[in-house]
Amino acid sequence: MCLFCKIIAREIPGTIVYEDDDVLAFEDIRPVAPTHTLVIPKRHIASIDEAKPEDAELLGKVLLAASKVAKQAGIQEGGWRLVINNGANAGQTVFHIHAHVLGGRGMQWPPG
Ligand code: AMP
Ligand code: ZN
Repeated sequence: MCLFCKIIAREIPGTIVYEDDDVLAFEDIRPVAPTHTLVIPKRHIASIDEAKPEDAELLGKVLLAASKVAKQAGIQEGGWRLVINNGANAGQTVFHIHAHVLGGRGMQWPPG
């Protein structure tokens, strides 16, 4: 079972901030912004590259849950960033799709 599947299964702890039937959101263990929350589908999909047409609705739910998390964290008004790292060059380290909700400070563009 992958690291994030273990958090879903409560086999390892996570600070969970949102959950529904399809999606889980929890605080990143090494935050890089005042708000840094990860939103994951409960079904294991390794990366966006592994996603199939039948995953489209689930991926949409991840995006909608990210917006709920941003609202709950109070960063929606100021603006926030959603990041999905994909593969080595992007720095993906956990191979279970996760969207980073980042906010609470100004962001740079282009990202590093
Ligand atoms: P990525 O580099 O996009 O694959 O992001 C993986 C993220 O997972 C990193 O920001 C890590 O800090 C975070 N992370 C790793 N292990 C845990 C954990 N046990 N609980 C919460 N976040 C974690
Ligand atoms: Zn997994």
